[in-house]
Amino acid sequence: MRKTIVAGNWKMNKTNSESVEMLTELKELVKGMNNVGIVLGVPFTALSDAVKAVEGSGIEIAAQNMNPNESGAFTGEIAPSMLTSIGVKYVILGHSERREYYKECDEFINEKVKAALKNGLTPILCIGEKLEDRESGKTDEVNEKQLRGGMAGLTAEEAAKVVVAYEPVWAIGTGKTATPEMAQETHKAIRNFLADMFGAEVAEEITIQYGGSMKPANAAELMGQTDIDGGLVGGASLEASSFSKIVEAG
Ligand code: 13P
Repeated sequence: MRKTIVAGNWKMNKTNSESVEMLTELKELVKGMNNVGIVLGVPFTALSDAVKAVEGSGIEIAAQNMNPNESGAFTGEIAPSMLTSIGVKYVILGHSERREYYKECDEFINEKVKAALKNGLTPILCIGEKLEDRESGKTDEVNEKQLRGGMAGLTAEEAAKVVVAYEPVWAIGTGKTATPEMAQETHKAIRNFLADMFGAEVAEEITIQYGGSMKPANAAELMGQTDIDGGLVGGASLEASSFSKIVEAG
């Protein structure tokens, strides 16, 4: 039985003290909601205090990026062991904003996914088509390429540990959400690609989150779909009140 995971991605928002304040509030609001995994992707500068703030609550902390190398001359970068050493458990990789603004390619993202697994971090591998891809009927093709690229060379056992986040780029921060039926159809296609790559049994185990304008009002319906196993939430994860409602819907 695969796990439902509701994750927040704060992107470049919140200072350290704002992060701790929000998490302290969230911890109280989600008490007893043990049916889903709860993860918060916070800025690097807040990671250490965020881990301490959620201690004992079951909430896990994620980084929003990572360098695949162990250490060395990579100015401005963060290594996997720097994250694990402070208690970070997840890392968001291949987000469309990183693909778009920092030109990250599938090969580089694949290196990061492998490095995360090697270090005991759970990668949240983001994939998703742009509006022009969807309009030209290339949704599945684009998602398949990003999925195969990001998960290249993984064993079935490793693949089972990856969380996939399907985020249609046209739905991110736009208020436009894929309809539950539309999202389900794409999630099903993604699970079929995973089955082809790693076998049906492993594909059934992999959590596939939906991301893109998920909010309290649409979360239950989206997560109610057979192949939607949680969410990766941007804007609505910034406030404890809205994020806890999404957790409740999961
Ligand atoms: P929004 O929820 O703000 O659309 O962002 C989604 C996202 O990019 C999460 O990674």
